[in-house]
Amino acid sequence: MKKKIIIIGGGLSGLYLGYKLKKEGFSIHILEANTRIGGRIFTKNSNHTKVELGATWLWRYNESLINLCAALQISLYEQNMTGDALYEAVNTTIPERFQLPRHQEISYRVVGGTATILEKLSQDFSGDELQLNEKVVRIDANKNSVDVLTENATFTADLVISTLPPQLLVNTVAFSAPLDANLLEIANNTHTWMKDSIKFALVYKTPFWKEKGLSGVGFSNVGPFTELYDHSDFENTHFALMGFLNAGLANESKAYREENIRAQLFKFFGEAGKNYLSYEEKVWSQESLLHSATPSFLNPHANNGHPVYQQEYLKGKFIIAGSETSPSYGGYMEGAIYRGNQIVEQLKHKFE
Ligand SMILES: Cc1cc2nc3c(=O)[nH]c(=O)nc-3n(C[C@H](O)[C@H](O)[C@H](O)COP(=O)(O)OP(=O)(O)OC[C@H]3O[C@@H](n4cnc5c(N)ncnc54)[C@H](O)[C@@H]3O)c2cc1C
Repeated sequence: MKKKIIIIGGGLSGLYLGYKLKKEGFSIHILEANTRIGGRIFTKNSNHTKVELGATWLWRYNESLINLCAALQISLYEQNMTGDALYEAVNTTIPERFQLPRHQEISYRVVGGTATILEKLSQDFSGDELQLNEKVVRIDANKNSVDVLTENATFTADLVISTLPPQLLVNTVAFSAPLDANLLEIANNTHTWMKDSIKFALVYKTPFWKEKGLSGVGFSNVGPFTELYDHSDFENTHFALMGFLNAGLANESKAYREENIRAQLFKFFGEAGKNYLSYEEKVWSQESLLHSATPSFLNPHANNGHPVYQQEYLKGKFIIAGSETSPSYGGYMEGAIYRGNQIVEQLKHKFE
């Protein structure tokens, strides 16, 4: 009999675990609460152009992720940084033009968008193996199995892996037997990467910034956007800018944010900056499937990869995965894959 494993969450961690464990001969069932896969990976089609409203870049030292991309025949390309950048120090002067330092660490993007990784990982899953709209609310450990209760149904397995950010897990999923007090304490104080960020993207007909010798890179102390990058595709046929907004704007309306970005774009690029074809944004702090009530400020990456996540819980029937549990590059896409590989090795030996 194949061992049955339920994976909670269909983000990069959950899909990767499903993909690998299925290959190892396990019976896998991924339960995703949302109507889409991907979690913090969110490539949106905007005016026929793919824009990243979640994870975008990887770096040469992200070995597990780069190996995965190679295995899935996914190509990478360098983030365009050619040309000058603009810097807005105060709101009383126009942004200054400056040369970007040479020999910077290169950031890479995924050809076709980061969601290409998700599509390749999930392409062979059946409807039973990957189920959307299944929000897990409770886990009940029995003597020889575990019941996972969603808002709609009960699923039973030999083992359950959560890929929820630990803080979200312990605040939104109930357990029949109380979790270890130390685990609860650490999970409540584990930072979830980018949970407060606001990302936006603008699609343009032409890359007008390149025509001015600009890279599309912009920094601002003033806002609303604090960082801006060229976001054109690999083929150089679709053109966009993408950036991050001041997180304090989360409670304003979308129209207010867009209006203020337009005014800032005019300061950076003149009339051409305002002539975009479409505007997209994602306020991640409003995402209930990422954000739980946070008791206090946490330093970025606080407790990511803590040793409590290396243990098994509920008498060996419950494992905590997800990028933030990775001892290597926790919070990043690399962390999701690194931790996934650890768990696959662990389970191969456990069920030998
Ligand atoms: C704006 C932004 C920019 C980023 N930029 C980068 C970058 O450039 N490079 C990089 O390496 N990383 C980046 N990251 C981080 C990267 O996206 C994450 O490290 C990675 O996607 C985490 O994957 P995960 O599967 O571990 O977690 P998640 O993506 O958070 O997946 C968890 C999944 O669980 C689901 N879920 C939640 N609750 C339940 C429930 N009760 N029942 C069932 N399912 C549930 C969620 O819907 C989600 O799909 C960025 C993140 C954001 C938000």
